[in-house]
Amino acid sequence: MEKLVSLTKRRGFIFPGSEIYEGIGGIYDLGPLGVELANNIKKVWWKKIVQERDDVVGLDSSILMNKEVWQTSGHINSFTDPLIECRNCHTRFREDTLPKSSNCPTCGKNDWTNSRMFNLMFKTHIGPVQDVGSETFLRPETAQGIFVNFGNIVDTMRVKIPFGIAQIGKGFRNEITIGNFLFRVREFEMMELEYFTYPAQAEKDFEYWQNERMKWHEELGLSKKNLRFREHASGERAHYAARSVDIEYNWPFMGWGELEGIANRTDYDLKAHSEASGKDLSYFDEATKKRIIPYVIEPSVGVGRAMLAVLIDSYTEEKAPTAEKGASETRVVLKLNPKLAPIKASILPLVKDEKLIKIAKGIYKELKENWFVQYDEAGSVGRRYRRQDEAGTPYCITVDFDSLKDSAITVRDRDSMKQDRIKIKEVPDYIKNKI
Ligand code: ATP
Repeated sequence: MEKLVSLTKRRGFIFPGSEIYEGIGGIYDLGPLGVELANNIKKVWWKKIVQERDDVVGLDSSILMNKEVWQTSGHINSFTDPLIECRNCHTRFREDTLPKSSNCPTCGKNDWTNSRMFNLMFKTHIGPVQDVGSETFLRPETAQGIFVNFGNIVDTMRVKIPFGIAQIGKGFRNEITIGNFLFRVREFEMMELEYFTYPAQAEKDFEYWQNERMKWHEELGLSKKNLRFREHASGERAHYAARSVDIEYNWPFMGWGELEGIANRTDYDLKAHSEASGKDLSYFDEATKKRIIPYVIEPSVGVGRAMLAVLIDSYTEEKAPTAEKGASETRVVLKLNPKLAPIKASILPLVKDEKLIKIAKGIYKELKENWFVQYDEAGSVGRRYRRQDEAGTPYCITVDFDSLKDSAITVRDRDSMKQDRIKIKEVPDYIKNKI
C-alpha cells in the first residue's frame, strides 16, 4: 500500500486534502490523472446501467435536501455507528471495528467509556439564520434524492415497473474512524441505482443485480480471486433493508471487506415519504389496475472505493531489461484496463529533432480530438516509457528517423512491451480498436 500511495501522489492521481495545512482527516483530492480515472469509472458505470438499458433513467438531485427527508428516511435516528472513547488518551473509535475487550490501539490502556450511538451525518444550516429551523444535513447517500423524485419520474418518463433510476453524486459521512487511504473517507462520490419492482419479483431481481454487479467488477479487470459475495446477518443490516449482500474485495490492508453493497430496501422509503409528505408515491399498475408501492433493489458503490480496488489490482512490479545488455531493473506498471486508463496513448519523438517533433505533434493533435493523450519529449525514451508505465498508459507511440522515410511509427504495448510498426494514418483506428 505504501508503494501504491506514493505512486498515486508522484504521478498525480491522488493528493491528501488541504495538504499545505497538514491535511484534513479522511478527505482526498483527485489530481489530473485521478480525475480522468474516476471519470472513466463513472462513464463505464453509466454506460452499463443507464445508456445500454431500456429500463433505467438517470437523475442528478441536490446534495442539500429538506431536513424532513432525513427524519422520514430514518437517517436522523438510525444512521449511526457505535462510538467508544479511550478515557486515557481520548481517542475515539468505532466500537464494532475493534476486537472485543481489546486495548486502545493508540495508547495501549484498557479504560473505555460506554459506547454511544454517533450520527454520521454532517449538519449545516440553510439561509442566514442559524437556528434549529434552518438545520439540515449533507446527504450521506444519493438514494433519498431518487425516492423524493419518484413521482416526478413516473409522471414524466412513461416508465413501467420494473424500472430503475440511477444517480452518481457526492455523499458525506462523518466517519468515526477513517483510514486505509480511499477506503474510508468522509467525502466521496457514490454510484447508486434504485431499481423499482413488484414485491413478488424483488428476490429474483435482487439476484439478477447481484450477478450483474459482480460481472461489472470483473469486466473492469479485477481478478476473480479477489472478489466474493457476503450475505449480511439480520442484526447487521441497515434499518431499511430486508436483505443485504456485499461484493467484497480482498484488500491488502484488511483482507475481505465491502466494495459494493446490494440491498433490498423493500417499500420502506417510498411508503415513509408518502406518509410523511402526504403526497401519494404509489404506482398505478396497468396490468392489475391496482396501485402499489414498489419494492426497491439498490446496488451502491463508491467511486473512490472502486478506484482503489482497480489501482491495487493493477499495480505490478516485474523485472524488465535495461538498455545495458544483460542487465535488468524493476518495472512498476499499472496494468489498468485501457477503458479506464487516464492517458490512452503517449506520443514521443525519439529525440528532440524538429522533424520528429513536427510529426509527433501532428499525431498528438489528431488523437486528442477523441482521447485523452499526452505528448512527451522530456528525457530518454526508456525513462518516458517507465513514466507512462506508472501512469498506466496502454500505448506509447514513438516517432523515429525511419518515420521520415516510411511514414510509420512504433506502438509499444504497456503490458507485453512488444512493439508494432504501423503507418501513421492507421494510428487512430489502431487506438480505437484497442480501447
Ligand atoms: P461500511 O459498512 O463499510 O461503513 P456501509 O455498509 O455503510 O459501509 P453503504 O451504505 O452500503 O456502506 O455504502 C455504499 C457504498 O459506498 C459502499 O459499498 C462503499 O463502496 C461506499 N462507501 C460507503 N462509505 C464509504 C466511505 N466512508 N468512504 C468511501 N466509500 C464509502
